[in-house]
Amino acid sequence: MKLCRFNDNRLGLVEGDHVSDATEALDALPAYRYPLPNTDQLIENLAMLRPRILEAAKSGARFPLAGLKLLSPVANPGKVVAAPVNYQAHFDEAEHDEGIRFGKEIVKIQTIGLFLKATSSVQGPSAGVVINHPDRRNDHEIELVAVIGKPARNVAVENALDYVAGYCIGLDMTVRGPEERSMRKSIDTYTVMGPWLTTADEIGDPHSLNLVLTVNGQPRQNNNTANLIVKVRELISWASTYYTLQPGDLFMTGTPDGVGPVVPGDTIDARIDKLGAIQVKVRAA
Ligand code: MN
Repeated sequence: MKLCRFNDNRLGLVEGDHVSDATEALDALPAYRYPLPNTDQLIENLAMLRPRILEAAKSGARFPLAGLKLLSPVANPGKVVAAPVNYQAHFDEAEHDEGIRFGKEIVKIQTIGLFLKATSSVQGPSAGVVINHPDRRNDHEIELVAVIGKPARNVAVENALDYVAGYCIGLDMTVRGPEERSMRKSIDTYTVMGPWLTTADEIGDPHSLNLVLTVNGQPRQNNNTANLIVKVRELISWASTYYTLQPGDLFMTGTPDGVGPVVPGDTIDARIDKLGAIQVKVRAA
């Protein structure tokens, strides 16, 4: 199942190049009062909602995908966990590019661990990336994103994929510089999620997906998740020994080689096998 959020917070079932409005299914979610849950309620209740979404989509309005305003498929992620330098080819390019490493040693992911991005930086592809420090280098990073489906605490590597609700494409936008990653990568609009959530049953093993990114049609990134240093199941297991992963948490698994700068006016196209494609405009503040 492919689920998008579109226009004014509508929920859509993606079928080919069309979207059927399934917002009515959300009526089955419990009514909340303050304090609200700190998990994403669509993702947490996905199993219960699934048949209702299919039913609602049958009678829902049907739109061509083209022209819809696509929002982040997860509206309320509790956290965004991210893997630094998780492809050897990106490790090698970072070591040799002073514009990426900024005088710092590139440390292996197994040593430096994971980092967190602010959830306030998350948005869908339609909103565009707003360059925050135009005087500095602002890079694209295409990443496979795993959306956590149920609470994961100290889970074994071999069971870790059972905790994934689905996958989407992520852009881990980054201003290069000497600051901590969590600051440089948490700028508003610097975490793009889209085009929709593809549920895990449609993906199976996520370690054979091509990732391709172009800027203004020019090739930049082209690699395969087979080359992840720390695999998705290992990332989830590892993270879960530090904090409980919750439904709706977004896990960015790292970017391959070919990262590079974008400037206002650029158009980023990113696609990952089985997950679709996103187009993102870069603009000035
Ligand atoms: Mn990244």
